[in-house]
Amino acid sequence: MGAESQKIVFGMPLPAEKDAQRGSRKPRLDKAERDQMIFQTIHVDTLIPEDHPARAIWEFVGKMDLTSLYLKINAVEGTAGRSATDPHTLISLWIYAYSQGISSAREMEKLCEYHPAFQWLTGMKVINHHTLSDFRIGNKEALDGLFTQTLGLLSAENLITLERVMHDGTKIKANAGADSFRTEERIQAHLKMAKAHLESMGDPTETPSDDRARKARERAAHERKERLETALRELEKIRAHKPDEEAMRKARASQTDPEARIMKQSNGGYGPSYNVQISTDRANGVIVGVEATQEANDCGRLLPAVEKIQENTGCLPKQMVADGGYTNRQNILAMDEKGVEFIGSMPDVSKTTLAQFARRGIDPAFYPGSFRYNPKRNTYTCPAGKVLTYAGKAKRHGLTEYHYRANDNDCAACAFKEKCCPQSPKKGRCVVRTENHSVVHAFITKMNTPEAKEIYRQRGPTAEFPNAWIKEKMKLRQFRLRGLRKIGMECVWACLTYNIQSWIRLRWSPPGLSSVMC
Ligand code: SF4
Repeated sequence: MGAESQKIVFGMPLPAEKDAQRGSRKPRLDKAERDQMIFQTIHVDTLIPEDHPARAIWEFVGKMDLTSLYLKINAVEGTAGRSATDPHTLISLWIYAYSQGISSAREMEKLCEYHPAFQWLTGMKVINHHTLSDFRIGNKEALDGLFTQTLGLLSAENLITLERVMHDGTKIKANAGADSFRTEERIQAHLKMAKAHLESMGDPTETPSDDRARKARERAAHERKERLETALRELEKIRAHKPDEEAMRKARASQTDPEARIMKQSNGGYGPSYNVQISTDRANGVIVGVEATQEANDCGRLLPAVEKIQENTGCLPKQMVADGGYTNRQNILAMDEKGVEFIGSMPDVSKTTLAQFARRGIDPAFYPGSFRYNPKRNTYTCPAGKVLTYAGKAKRHGLTEYHYRANDNDCAACAFKEKCCPQSPKKGRCVVRTENHSVVHAFITKMNTPEAKEIYRQRGPTAEFPNAWIKEKMKLRQFRLRGLRKIGMECVWACLTYNIQSWIRLRWSPPGLSSVMC
């Protein structure tokens, strides 16, 4: 290296006097030394700051009654064996993990090794992913109990009023691919192969083995056989909803997650999913009810949602607000019977009705609007001046249909027959007059008022926020687990986390910081 180039360090010229002092000496650097053993002193409690959310989660879980979980532990004082991991720790770990968008037990095990918040929660212990995983899915009743207790604690802090509850559903992808759906023929063929494979492994009771890899293979083969058997059972349920023989024959079920159903996603595409129903209290955005279902359609889930809220809180909501997917006559009557005021948006079915007339080949000039009703005589007069007389009524949910029919001979001889009733060669034209149930009529009148419209406008921000939070922040766009029971538990874990995060945001003040503020 030349003398001129030595004067340039990182492209900057050295001051002349500094250059003179250094001479040819090299800079002394504190380099990373990795070939060494060191001992470190750590005060575990100072691993995270006073206002860290892990402390808040620990504090909140500490307020819960975990007796049912402690009673399940076999290891007791005075006996030999390994101690069980404290449920307080396991619950806090899962809540913290979900709040960080982590739902993998293996990832949590790794984080326990170096992540300060996980180390603080476990007291610097590494918890095996099997322990974490088993705890997440092995305590359904206790988990439901924790959700209920959380609502009780939030209610005690005046964070729940149940004055107005917004309800909505969201589709979450199942842990299965669209290509895992098979017809009965294919599932039967795969089941046959799975059984043959199991038989080829021999009877494990006759040939006991300590080989862990072999045991894992046997367990996997058993699980595959059970999944295929479940797929056949689920296929029968899917077929029960098919309209005809051809559709039943073509019906398919997933071999990976047999309980998943093909549903329309928010992006317009279709895929294996579950429909997650969430009820949110308007006062502070606390989730008061959650349920995962296989039903793609929302309309049948409003009443179960109200019953779930009652089960969780012991009270019925005063008012339930839901979108057009839930607003039908059946639900309006059901809410009225329950004593819950319903605010919804009645879908406009006029376009569907007109499309039906068009499909039947009826000319627009002969749609029911062109027939004149005479209330005194209870008859209709058609555009050709003929009278349609009352022919009977049919009652449906919240609706009575009155049928009126023209004389067969009048229509047969009519010049407009091809335009008026082209699909009824022998019978006279029929017109239906509908009359809403008084409760439905009152609902429609109410929903035309500015007050009701204003309440309905609040629905979107309140009801859709938890759905978006769970999908975006907790990254629960796709379930990690499989089967309705397990994904239902994933939903409860996510909503439990959401509610505790709400408590942290609205009520928690770190003990150290609050005393400083005082
Ligand atoms: S087809 Fe029958 S109902 Fe229709 S316009 Fe003619 S008479 Fe009237």
